Amino acid sequence: ETLVEFRDIGMTYETGTTALEGVDLTVRRGEFVTVVGPSGCGKSTLLRIAAGLESHTDGTCETSTDRVGFVFQDATLLPWRSVRRNVELLAELNGLPAAERAEAAAEAIDLVGLAGFESSLPRQLSGGMRMRTSLARSLTLDPDLFLFDEPFGALDEITRQRLNDELLRLFAERGFGGLFITHSVAEAVYLSTRVIVMSGRPGRIVDVVDVPFDLPRD
Ligand code: ADP
Ligand code: ADP
Repeated sequence: ETLVEFRDIGMTYETGTTALEGVDLTVRRGEFVTVVGPSGCGKSTLLRIAAGLESHTDGTCETSTDRVGFVFQDATLLPWRSVRRNVELLAELNGLPAAERAEAAAEAIDLVGLAGFESSLPRQLSGGMRMRTSLARSLTLDPDLFLFDEPFGALDEITRQRLNDELLRLFAERGFGGLFITHSVAEAVYLSTRVIVMSGRPGRIVDVVDVPFDLPRD
């Protein structure tokens, strides 16, 4: 099942900067695709187009689901809300009744290993735990397509590795399609079934590497 399909996508901002040129990309359910490349090659632009947060100026982009989750590098939590109330936020904005969103939040908090921290405020949590809260918030919407913009880039190596393993477990459990941006080739290979290498200005796809499923992962 195809979740998002880019054909010959180009994007020129109003400032005149062309961020992307001739990008073809498909993400299906059960695929975890990572995008690596230097700063400025258009990775974030690509993700924002896939999320429908940005338009494109050339080519076609088809997204076959409106259940899209988005996790940024900054966990973007509301500092005055507890973990539980932060996790409920998206469900709340989507108009889920109180009982349903409480149930969705409890399940998501459990999935990311934050049970026991429901009443904590963001400032009482470690960076890794804040990122888990952000992940849980997206999980309440049970996304078909999960987009990640360098989510663990600001975390230390050990926390990052732990969260990568959590993410692989969530991916195996939930079977969504993933599109994950990172600076780290090692992280990309560890996480994904396909690595897309981007480069240049404007950014283009310069290589696509399929990672064997049975590659030893430690
Ligand atoms: P990356 O995520 O790989 O660092 P970006 O997608 O952020 O790349 O940026 C690609 C190019 O588009 C850069 O030259 C950047 O300056 C430009 N750019 C990004 N966002 C905007 C914007 N909102 N307006 C104008 N130019 C932008
Ligand atoms: P993570 O890998 O989720 O970032 P850390 O390595 O930062 O976790 O923290 C390790 C453990 O320390 C956490 O799983 C949690 O049990 C505990 N911990 C961290 N911060 C706090 C806190 N503010 N209050 C209570 N326990 C905490």
